[in-house]
Order: sequence, then C-alpha cells, then structure tokens
Amino acid sequence: MTSDHSSGSPTTHVDTQLVHCGREPARFAGMVNTPVFRGSTIIANNLEDWEAARQIDNPMSNYGRFGTPTTRSFEQAIVTLEGGHNCLVFPSGLSACTHSIMAFVKSGDHVLITDSVYGPTRTFADRVLRRMGVEVEYFDPLIGGEIRTLLRPNTSVVFVESPGSWTFEVQDIPAIAEEAHKVGAYVLLDNTWATPLFFKPFEHGVDVSIHAATKYIVGHSDALLGVASANERAWCILKHGAHDFGQTAGPDDIYLALRGMRSMAVRLRQHSESGIQLAEYLQTQPLVERVLHPALPSDPGYKLWQRDFLGASGLFTIALKEVGRPALSKFFDGLQLFGIGLSWGGFESLALPLDKPPTRVASATTYPNPLVRIHVGLENIDDLIADMGLAFKRMEQAL
Ligand SMILES: *Cc1c(COP(=O)(O)O)cnc(C)c1O
Repeated sequence: MTSDHSSGSPTTHVDTQLVHCGREPARFAGMVNTPVFRGSTIIANNLEDWEAARQIDNPMSNYGRFGTPTTRSFEQAIVTLEGGHNCLVFPSGLSACTHSIMAFVKSGDHVLITDSVYGPTRTFADRVLRRMGVEVEYFDPLIGGEIRTLLRPNTSVVFVESPGSWTFEVQDIPAIAEEAHKVGAYVLLDNTWATPLFFKPFEHGVDVSIHAATKYIVGHSDALLGVASANERAWCILKHGAHDFGQTAGPDDIYLALRGMRSMAVRLRQHSESGIQLAEYLQTQPLVERVLHPALPSDPGYKLWQRDFLGASGLFTIALKEVGRPALSKFFDGLQLFGIGLSWGGFESLALPLDKPPTRVASATTYPNPLVRIHVGLENIDDLIADMGLAFKRMEQAL
C-alpha cells in the first residue's frame, strides 16, 4: 500500500488520498500509522552509505534536523494533496511564513504584501524585513492584475493570502501571479484558510504555498506546526532558506498533524456546511452590519471564490453595528458554546473579538465598528445557531 507523489491522478478523490497519502505500513512492521521517530543522530551502516546519505536531496538525509521517517510521511502527504514539487515543516505557521519570505529576499529588495495579511506576518515584515534593508509595501487585496503598477525590477516577493485574515477579501491570484512573474518575483501564498483541499495553489501560479498546519490539518487544537510547499522553480531556494536557519519540527507534532489530516475532508465538510448556515443566520441579525464570508452569494469576493476555490472552511467574520463596549461584553457573556481564544481550525467553536480595527494602509474598505471572528466547530448547527441567538438577545437588551 505504497502511496506517494504519483497518487494525484484525477480519478483519486481527495477523501481517498487523505486516507492513503504518506503511509507505507510495510516499512514499519505493518503499522497503519507511521510511528513517531525521535532522533538526532542517524547511524550509517558503512562509509558508502554515509557518503550516499550526505548527497544533496537524498530523502533519507543524515541528521534528525532534516527530518525522520515521520517527517517524510507528512511531507509526502502534503505533496500528494497540494501538488507541489516538495515541502518542508516548520515549528509553527508563523515561522513557515517568515522563513519562506526570508529565503527569497536580500537587502535592497522590494516586497509587496497584501494589506489583509495575517497580523504577525505583517509585524515581521515591518520590524524585521525593514531592519534588514528590504522595502516593504502593502497592496489592496482587491488589486488583481493592476499590481503591475506596483511591481519593480527589484521586487523579489509578492505575498498573498486569500481570503485575507479578518476581512476575507478574495484575491485574484492568477492575475497577480502572472504580473509578478513578468518581473521575476516569487509568489508566496498563505493558504491556511482554504487548506490543501479547497485551493490548489500550483494550478493558480503560486510558487510557495504555506499553511499553519496548527489549524485544520492538526484539527484538534493540540499542536503547533507549519508547512511550506514549493514548485520546482522555488524549491531549492526555499529549502536552503529553511535549512540555513535550522528550521525543523518535532516528530510528536508531526505525528499529530498526520493523524489529524486523515479526517480532514470529513471535518471540513461539516465546518463548511455549518459555517455557511451560521453565516446566513447572522446576516438576518439586526445588529450585524455585514457578514464577511466569501461563500455567501452577496459577498464581493463570491465570484472569484467560486472560480478558484473548491470549497469554504468554517472561519469568517461578522462586522457589527456600533454597539458599544458594555453590549459587546454582554454578547460574549451570553455565548456558551463559543470560546474566546486565538487560533482556529479545531473541533470546537470560537468567537474572537478584534481589539482595534485591523491595520490597513492600502485597502478600499475599512471597518470602524467591532469585528468578531467566528470559527464554526463540529457541534450541532442548531445548537450553535441557538447559542448565537441568545447572545444577540443579551446584547440587544444591553443597548
Ligand atoms: C494562525 C495563522 C498563522 C500562524 O500559525 P501558528 O501556527 O499559530 O504560528 C499564519 N497564517 C494564518 C492565516 C493564520 O491564521
């Protein structure tokens, strides 16, 4: 039951791929799951094996930092699902974002980053990239092919994230990638929201696709992990970038990611369906100004989402009307099933208030009133809707 990069044939459904990808029981005493391999030193049988293992790109490299069979299983699985040339693990989603960028930039370069990028990636760009002499410029996530007006001969990276963090703008990634490639820039995508299932980055011109595996891939809020995949053009640069910084990830976290991944398609069907149902319900609430969810036909990003994506995950935002702090507090007091907490993609529902309006310098749309980001978990949807309904009643009473 060997499964590898070749299993991405059109006749293989993703549910089937998820069950079989990266697994080779015959290599591990018949174990269904590739076990947790802990190790730093890997001992060679003889001088010839030692020398062979030291050759560049040997999949069984000679030191634990470059991965173990557990790592290889996970990498193979991601390559099967996402279709890149190869991929690497990182200890967190953020480190996958930052080290991927670092691999492609040098002092004097110019980088373009979507204005709707994940906040900590933005902080990294503002603090670290600028300190390194890289010019950072943000672009309107709705810019599309007009990004040509911002590209320069020294633009080395265009960093996209679709839909964007908090505000969920869908980007025209094929149009952006086409322009970026004309000046030789690399297109890096934070693909966490869509997961490897709902957006196929390498069919849309992306060079490096990054996931916070912490979210839907792990799926159970019990591990942090990042992964970045590259096409052939970008692979060696990405790999050197990660290895030069000593990036790696522990086998226990990788094991949890592999285990979580097996049920990802089933979980995501539920997250997706419940997410759309809850979003539709919230659209009817008088205190909701707008629901930011690209799979709603009324959403400005709907057409692009429909063209490029294969599904929607369970994360979206509600923009409230001007309700004031006391009423907002009552809303959160009223929620029984939604926890207030960072991250998302686990089995449990979350509702997260944004402390202040999201930092935006290049976006046409801004949000002056409170935003609440919702992650719809695997609870029964009627219970979730009832819980939200009661919380909104409480908020109304406090106005
Ligand atoms: C959570 C998140 C990250 C960072 O992942 P961590 O594993 O928490 O470091 C990166 N990008 C997006 C879009 C995220 O939501």
